[in-house]
Amino acid sequence: MTRLLIIGPPGSGKGTQAVHLARHFGIPAVSTGDIFRSNVSRATELGTQAAQYLDGGDLVPDHLTNALVRDRLLENDVRRGFLLDGYPRTAVQAVELDNMLAASGLALNAVIELRAPDTELEQRMRKRAREQGRTDDTVDVFRRRLDLYRRETHEVVSVYAARGILVPVDGSGDPGEITAQAIAAVEKFLAAARA
Ligand code: AMP
Repeated sequence: MTRLLIIGPPGSGKGTQAVHLARHFGIPAVSTGDIFRSNVSRATELGTQAAQYLDGGDLVPDHLTNALVRDRLLENDVRRGFLLDGYPRTAVQAVELDNMLAASGLALNAVIELRAPDTELEQRMRKRAREQGRTDDTVDVFRRRLDLYRRETHEVVSVYAARGILVPVDGSGDPGEITAQAIAAVEKFLAAARA
C-alpha cells in the first residue's frame, strides 16, 4: 500500500501529474481542489462556503478542508493507498493529516515536490486559463496563490524534508518526461525505504 502526496506551486502541473502517478501506482488520486470545484459547481453547502476562497485564490479555512479530507479518507477505495493532491497546504493541515493516519496506525510513504521557475508557472497558468476557464486563473489571483504557497505551503514541504520522505522532482519541461522522472524517483525512494 502506497500513501503519497504531491505538492507544488500553482501552475506546476500538480493535478496532471497526480492523475498519471496515481494510475501508475494503482491508487486513487484525491484532489482537494477538484472536490471543492465539484462542490461549487453543484452548489452544495460546502461549495457555497468555499467558493469565495477559491475565486480569490485564498485558502479555504483549515477546519472545512480538514473535515473534507477526514471524510474522504474514510471511504473504501483509499484503503489500498492514495495520492493526495493539494493537501496539506498549511502546517495545521499537515499535523491533522498525521493524526488522521496515525489513528489507523498509518503514515505517508513519500511526498513528491514539483519544482519549476516562476516564469514557467505563469505560462502554464495562462495556457490553462485558455483551455479550462478556471475562475482562479487570472494573473492577480495566480500571484496571490503563489504568494500563499511561499508563505504557507513551503513550511509543509520543510516538515517532510526533515522527516526524510521528500522526493523533489524537476517540474519544468515536457509533462510526459516529468511523469517518467517522477515515477522513477518515487520508485527508487520506496525501494530504498523498504530495504
Ligand atoms: P488546486 O486545484 O489544488 O490548485 O486548488 C484550488 C483551490 O482550492 C485553492 O486555491 C484553494 O482555494 C482551494 N484548496 C485546495 N486545496 C486546499 C487546501 N488543502 N487548503 C485550503 N484550500 C485549498
